[in-house]
Amino acid sequence: MSELEQTARIRANILAIHECIDAAARRAGRDPGSVKLIAVSKTHPPESVRAAMAADVADFGENRVQEAGEKAEMLADVGGIRWHLIGHLQRNKVRRAVAIFDLVHSVDSLRLAETLHRAVSEAEQAGGRARLPVLLQVNVAGENQKEGFDLAGGLADTARLAQFRAEVAQIVELRHLEVRGLMMIAPYVVDPESARPVFRALRELRDDLARDFSGLPWSELSMGMTGDYEVAVEEGATLVRVGRAIFGERA
Ligand SMILES: *Cc1c(COP(=O)(O)O)cnc(C)c1O
Repeated sequence: MSELEQTARIRANILAIHECIDAAARRAGRDPGSVKLIAVSKTHPPESVRAAMAADVADFGENRVQEAGEKAEMLADVGGIRWHLIGHLQRNKVRRAVAIFDLVHSVDSLRLAETLHRAVSEAEQAGGRARLPVLLQVNVAGENQKEGFDLAGGLADTARLAQFRAEVAQIVELRHLEVRGLMMIAPYVVDPESARPVFRALRELRDDLARDFSGLPWSELSMGMTGDYEVAVEEGATLVRVGRAIFGERA
């Protein structure tokens, strides 16, 4: 496929996804404008990012700090890109991540939150940013997933929930972090309808936290990917992370 054809295809994909997002939002009685599409550009070249930007996408998701940093440099001539970290963050990559990302979706432990807090504090002393917006990644689904705060028993597991709340209470005190909401990777399912209960569980958890930690907006719910983003929007997603449906299959 020529680059021109590739650009046209990416554009058509984005328009179709926006239509599906809008329809899903309306079905749920939500404002379609309350859902943001994040184009997951991992493994794809900077040209693909440019093509998506030509179709009015400004938010891009990457799961590796190194790859995102290289891409951001190659796209330094383009203004207005917002980079989202959606993959696990190793603690030795935290400083670099603080310099690149506009929103870190994958804060999955108190320890990582504290390390990020210190890195942002250092960045501020060096004349950089003073605050980093983050989401807390939780695992409400179980199913052999390792990443995220472990709430595999869902809201019914009161012991784990209490432990999580105690950690959240410490994280919200870290003044260099700005907790904006929750993120989840739903288990892979053939029928997206079967992911609905975990999306709903994440929204309920968010509503719970918004009551307990009322000083924060808790406005963002990052959930839904190529296979299930419409169901996620029906259940309250504000950030959907879509890769394959925009850029095609990854190598
Ligand atoms: C790769 C990835 C996505 C995008 O997945 P697609 O199936 O390509 O839409 C979304 N979220 C996370 C955390 C990912 O790693």
